[in-house]
Amino acid sequence: MSRRNRSDGKTAQHQQMKKEFDLIVIGTGAAGSNAAQECRKAGWEVAIIDSRPFGGTCALRGCDPKKVLVGAAELISWHNRMHGKGLTGSAEIDWTSLMRFKRTFTEPVPENKEKNYTKVVAGEPPARQAIAAMRASLEAARRPKP
Ligand SMILES: Cc1cc2nc3c(=O)[nH]c(=O)nc-3n(C[C@H](O)[C@H](O)[C@H](O)COP(=O)(O)OP(=O)(O)OC[C@H]3O[C@@H](n4cnc5c(N)ncnc54)[C@H](O)[C@@H]3O)c2cc1C
Repeated sequence: MSRRNRSDGKTAQHQQMKKEFDLIVIGTGAAGSNAAQECRKAGWEVAIIDSRPFGGTCALRGCDPKKVLVGAAELISWHNRMHGKGLTGSAEIDWTSLMRFKRTFTEPVPENKEKNYTKVVAGEPPARQAIAAMRASLEAARRPKP
């Protein structure tokens, strides 16, 4: 990734825009967030976009939530297999309570992630500018090189 020299290679469309970005990241998962944060630390002007709540698969739907849900199912399985072999009593999943617990650590993620950025909503001028800038740079990248 190289930072574009702002004075070089501007199209008319770029010049008309009020805000320029050095990097526009699609996706607020681990990959996109890390790239955005590193580039911001280096002083880049960064926009990050997501079509779903901020946080990505791992934090919201993958790694940790999965571990808790699968962990509960494994406990039941272990209990059933060990019952009468040193384990007594019964074990069952209270799904409502388990999901409530899962939400205690998934629900705060989008808001915590968004704290790191100035929020704009799709359709508002800054979002339109970011998307227009991204389209312009994608079109420029697709243009055949002389
Ligand atoms: C059920 C499950 C369990 C998992 N468990 C583990 C685990 O235990 N350990 C582990 O290391 N990994 C695990 N993973 C894998 C881990 O979640 C992924 O490796 C990781 O999330 C990838 O990060 P990412 O940033 O590349 O993509 P993601 O986290 O998927 O982020 C991509 C983001 O881009 C957004 N996006 C996509 N297309 C667009 C678009 N066109 N416009 C706007 N936004 C867009 C999406 O909404 C999403 O928020 C698991 C995955 C799943 C599904």
